[in-house]
Amino acid sequence: MPKQVMPNPSVFRKDVDSFYTLTCDVCGIPTVIIGISKVGIGIATSLRSIFYYVHSGKDDSGYLTPSELERATALLTIPDYKGLDSLISKFHIGGIPFYCPECNVCYCPAHLKGEDYRIRACPKGHEGVVCD
Ligand SMILES: [Zn+2]
Ligand SMILES: [Zn+2]
Repeated sequence: MPKQVMPNPSVFRKDVDSFYTLTCDVCGIPTVIIGISKVGIGIATSLRSIFYYVHSGKDDSGYLTPSELERATALLTIPDYKGLDSLISKFHIGGIPFYCPECNVCYCPAHLKGEDYRIRACPKGHEGVVCD
């Protein structure tokens, strides 16, 4: 069983109601955690929000409308990474980090190819996997 490499994000994101873990398709380690806040984070309390926390320790968040957030929850439950990727692209360039659209799965940094900090290739050679 691979070692869990990420801390539990609920420890430092108490404003988030639910977490979904996207794992590496090769080794199964948690690669991206997506959190959903139903109350809104920060000052934009009129809008509900979604945030993601990635393997590298970086986290980012953005605001979706209530109907978009409902859609995000449904997409995470299925899960439908393609739909989720386009939703997250609304506030984060590149969509879900570590996600290969052509494979429709996520890969951890150890299983991506190339040395570039931001853009790498997936194990099957698809270019353009955004890593932050
Ligand atoms: Zn992996
Ligand atoms: Zn791929």
